Amino acid sequence: MKPILLGSVADDFTGATDLASTLVKAGMRTVQLLGVPRADLQVPDADAVIVALKSRSNPAPEAVAMSLAALDWLRRAGARQFYFKYCSTFDSTDRGNIGPVADALSDALGTDFTVFNPAFPTNKRTVYQGYLFVGDVLLSESSMRQHPLTPMTDPSLVRVLGRQTTRKVGLVPYAAVRKGPAAIREAIANLRREGCRHAVLDAITDEDLFALGEACADLALITGGSGMAMGLPANFRRQGLLTEGQSIRLPEVTGHAAVLAGSCSAATQGQVELMKQTHDAWEIDPVAIADGRDVAGEALAWATPRLGDKPILIYSTGAPEQVAAVQEKLGREHAGTLVEETLAKIAKGLVSRGVRRLVVAGGETSGAIVSALGVEGLQIGAEIDPGVPWTASLNEPRLALALKSGNFGTPDFFTKAFAKYG
Ligand code: ADP
Repeated sequence: MKPILLGSVADDFTGATDLASTLVKAGMRTVQLLGVPRADLQVPDADAVIVALKSRSNPAPEAVAMSLAALDWLRRAGARQFYFKYCSTFDSTDRGNIGPVADALSDALGTDFTVFNPAFPTNKRTVYQGYLFVGDVLLSESSMRQHPLTPMTDPSLVRVLGRQTTRKVGLVPYAAVRKGPAAIREAIANLRREGCRHAVLDAITDEDLFALGEACADLALITGGSGMAMGLPANFRRQGLLTEGQSIRLPEVTGHAAVLAGSCSAATQGQVELMKQTHDAWEIDPVAIADGRDVAGEALAWATPRLGDKPILIYSTGAPEQVAAVQEKLGREHAGTLVEETLAKIAKGLVSRGVRRLVVAGGETSGAIVSALGVEGLQIGAEIDPGVPWTASLNEPRLALALKSGNFGTPDFFTKAFAKYG
């Protein structure tokens, strides 16, 4: 494996995919690894590797240990620059994990300065004077105020970060950012002279993010949402390290096709309804699973004679009142786990019957399925719809996987996806 350019640690799975898509769009060949990789994991040649952790809500010492283990792997893979990816709403508490992880990564890399920028203008996350806005309201007035795990009640990132670290936190204000890379570098140099070791960066537009990316070309460690990474590929290109116009093609995958839907989000409901009209479909009943019926076995027996190039659909997707009734009977968590386990068992059964191309709907559902399939990493391809790329598993048998967060994709996503692989 050739040395990689950018090594990233992401604090959750869908956030890692978001970053991966950003880098692929900018022409970087990108691999996403699921969890801390084993030391001898072989990955195909890539410009960027992202280790997707599930560390956002863990106790800080655990998040730090996982992040350092991931960093260690990325350093051995030869990364020239490192990126710590977190959510564009800066999801964290006073105990962490953004500050403690950034401190630990800085120390491990021997660097005394890093930057923080969760801005993602496309999704209306902007930072002005260090205050994070979600749409047209402050973070603390958005729904993030009531987040069950990381309620964000203070919109000032300088203060939020200040409570998570003992290091001095400064701000690169918009007045400097809008003047471009030279002014940003000067503002950073001033902050360093004042003893700041962390700087929150203002950004309102994509142009700001490109300017910030250029200004941060020489930092060993950068932290942010996926937006802050937009300007980094151009730095590698300027240094002659990244080939221009590189076409990113996934390896060819042939085999039967299937869609597994475990999401009950509105977009997925519409996608299931549309696909049912033209394709074979099987509905999973959570109550039958709870009653002890072999629902996975029944679904696989139904699916086996129908497998082929035309995708089949297996779904647990239900309307809100249907889901509420099931949850009342079985409990929300228990119902979720039963359905996830069943869909994971079905996915394994389908793969053993020759399915190699699989679309999965649902974030948690996707997590359960890739872990049951023993997938350690994914090569990231082009997007099917915003936020949902085709991927190819690193492990054999090679699988083409499209892992869709519940509310993503157009109504015909399930069928159009298969025509877009590559
Ligand atoms: P999304 O991305 O839409 O949030 P997830 O897969 O993350 O989808 O979450 C959906 C959750 O709902 C999963 O835990 C899944 O097992 C559960 N679930 C799926 N179908 C049903 C159903 N019919 N009744 C109750 N829970 C369900």
